[in-house]
Amino acid sequence: MVRESEIRAGEVAVAPPRGDDAGLTFIGRIHTPWTSRLETPRQGRRDGPICRIEIFAPWDQGLRGLEQYASVEVIYWLHLSRRDLVLQSPKNDGHARGTFSLRSPVRPNPLGTSLAVLVGIEGNIVLVRGLDCLDGTPLLDIKPDRCAFTPLAPPQKGDFEVG
Ligand code: SAM
Repeated sequence: MVRESEIRAGEVAVAPPRGDDAGLTFIGRIHTPWTSRLETPRQGRRDGPICRIEIFAPWDQGLRGLEQYASVEVIYWLHLSRRDLVLQSPKNDGHARGTFSLRSPVRPNPLGTSLAVLVGIEGNIVLVRGLDCLDGTPLLDIKPDRCAFTPLAPPQKGDFEVG
């Protein structure tokens, strides 16, 4: 269930993080059809609506070469999230799970990531499908999904069991 900012049964809030963070720079803004968290998809879909990622100068020059990729990883700042829950009840049913066992937007550093289909690039605008964030969400980074330095595929549970 999507939250605005309430605390649910079983949830635990702690002192929110202080502002002395890593000094992130917002390099752009994401334009999507969604203006309410209640209507925003929980995860993006590859057949979802085309969204526009606006890259601010001077970072727009950094788009050169991105057009050769079919998909991109988009990293954004879920700016309206609360940041103080260490236990959360996603279904609001009294059963709480640890924040780091969830992909909830509510986390101490509310980073969101999506693998999106690259539809095109028009000047400083990157057109993609597959996002799940509110209109106006700040952009932190864009990376090609597959390139010479793509990480290994994620291990599956049990891959490293001995015996
Ligand atoms: N795909 C990302 C991930 O896995 O890291 C984010 C997943 S999160 C479950 C997506 C939800 O975050 C949306 O359904 C919406 O409720 C919420 N959300 C989207 N944009 C937000 C924003 N700018 N601030 C706070 N919450 C946001």
